[in-house]
Amino acid sequence: MNKYWSETIKGIAPYVPGEQPRVGRLVKLNTNENPYPPSPEVLNAMRAAVTDELRLYPDPNCSLLRETASRYYGIPAEQIFAGNGSDEILAFCFKAFFDSGDTILFPDITYNFYEVYARLFGVSYRTVPLTESFDVPVEGFYTCNDGVILANPNAPTGKVISLKNLEALVKHNRQAVVIIDEAYIDFGGESAIGLIPKYDNLLVIRTFSKSRSLAGLRIGLALGHRGLIEALIRVRDCINCFTVDWIAQAGAIASLEDTETFTRNIQKVIATRDRITALLRQAGFRVVDSSTNFLLISHLKVKADALNEALRRQNIFVRLFPKPRIDNYLRVTIGTDEEMDILYQALLELVRETR
Ligand code: PMP
Repeated sequence: MNKYWSETIKGIAPYVPGEQPRVGRLVKLNTNENPYPPSPEVLNAMRAAVTDELRLYPDPNCSLLRETASRYYGIPAEQIFAGNGSDEILAFCFKAFFDSGDTILFPDITYNFYEVYARLFGVSYRTVPLTESFDVPVEGFYTCNDGVILANPNAPTGKVISLKNLEALVKHNRQAVVIIDEAYIDFGGESAIGLIPKYDNLLVIRTFSKSRSLAGLRIGLALGHRGLIEALIRVRDCINCFTVDWIAQAGAIASLEDTETFTRNIQKVIATRDRITALLRQAGFRVVDSSTNFLLISHLKVKADALNEALRRQNIFVRLFPKPRIDNYLRVTIGTDEEMDILYQALLELVRETR
């Protein structure tokens, strides 16, 4: 800590440093990346964007990308915003839709950055506890408030909210913006994008980091009513008009145009997820039903932090959350079949050793 720091910064710590280790052979199952590479078309499009044009600033409005996304999602381009990863868009939302003194609602347990952004931007928040089975109790969000933010499927639990329940929640919150973070929706669950024409208070956020194998490119989209998109543009233009570079725009367009590789990779991840879920359950692990590219697992007899430490010694990286209710769980990203077999064998041995 330093005497020049603001009180806000003294009070918060984002909690991921150290999760991107650069060691030799590693089974990296800790940050929900896709184990399969993006398609050659995506890589070629990015290579083709490396030209003298890079001396010019990129198109701040990402017009071609938004037009391509418009054809892909069936939503007008003016209703789509592109950002430097969905984290950036989520951060912009806090400035665009909420004032200090407003109170927003999100579940306790969910994506940790909602709380980080609320604190950073001085927005008050209330949390609604998940049910015993880690489901989001939608009725808990029917109360009057200034905003709602939900991940669907939720993270790090992996469970989905049905579209029917989500629509009821949006209807009960017509006075407030409802933000649905669909970072993992391509792996399971029903998207709320189809509800956008009906509700001007609904904003859906997507990322290219998970199902599209492009975490390193930093691309996210927000889809919603024109008025909501205009607010995001204002925030962006006050901070940095050029958050999405030329190369990223080219890669993201090519990704939306290549449904084949994308669909194949998702199917592989889902098949591996279901196979490993069954194996771990047979081996005595509790595995929360997942509609994502990760699993939340625990073992009755062996503590999660002991498993985590032992796995790290074998260069297998998974994620532990120092949070009540899930502090005895590990979150495991779905890797390749080979990586998951290495993890599975390691877990089996550790559980056997500690019997
Ligand atoms: N939302 C959720 C629920 C996430 O898990 C993540 C990734 N950790 C993000 C948003 C951010 O994704 P990105 O900034 O890479 O688009």
